[in-house]
Amino acid sequence: MSSHTSQKLIILAAPSGSGKTTLTNRLMQTFPQLAFSVSACTRPPRAGEVDGKDYHFISLEAFREGIANDDFVEWEMVYQGKYYGTRKSELQRLWDLGKIPILDIDVKGAVNVMRQFPENALTVFIQAPSIDALRERLQNRGTETEESLAERVNKAEEELDYASHFQHTIVNDHLEEAAAKLIGIVRDFLQEN
Ligand code: 5GP
Repeated sequence: MSSHTSQKLIILAAPSGSGKTTLTNRLMQTFPQLAFSVSACTRPPRAGEVDGKDYHFISLEAFREGIANDDFVEWEMVYQGKYYGTRKSELQRLWDLGKIPILDIDVKGAVNVMRQFPENALTVFIQAPSIDALRERLQNRGTETEESLAERVNKAEEELDYASHFQHTIVNDHLEEAAAKLIGIVRDFLQEN
């Protein structure tokens, strides 16, 4: 993949239930030059999720083939047996369109991508106000089983330790305030060379 200083990217690391989808959508409404980087993953789609828009939902076999072909900028087994990854071709596709990709990925993937694009990446860690609030949001969303909810809450706890790796941290306790902060940070980044 060719890398160029004008090829910026934005990495948002956010646990499940932190409000990242809303924040990401808000960013894309504000800045039309941004575009969501669609990851590949091996978990099944949730009700309402669209293949090719939320994720490319692929089989474990296809994912392994992608790893063997060196198709991924980064990939992780984010949850037990569930793989998620950012394809090189997806970033290149967006850059070719003149867009700046937004990656919504887990902290390990984020640190991995930061190392590969140290000059061009904006990195923001989005934090839920508290673990209890996160659990409540996930429960209210009603998309998770007991097991997958517990897995997401545990992961969010682990991820807190990584916040210091990021250029910015935003605590999403009030959506409007968090969105305004994020928009300010991104505006500054877009104005840099
Ligand atoms: P879910 O969509 O299953 O609730 O949660 C997905 C988790 O995996 C989130 O923390 C999300 O940021 C992360 N994730 C999504 N896509 C990728 C990816 O391409 N790479 C990595 N490393 N993590 C991802």
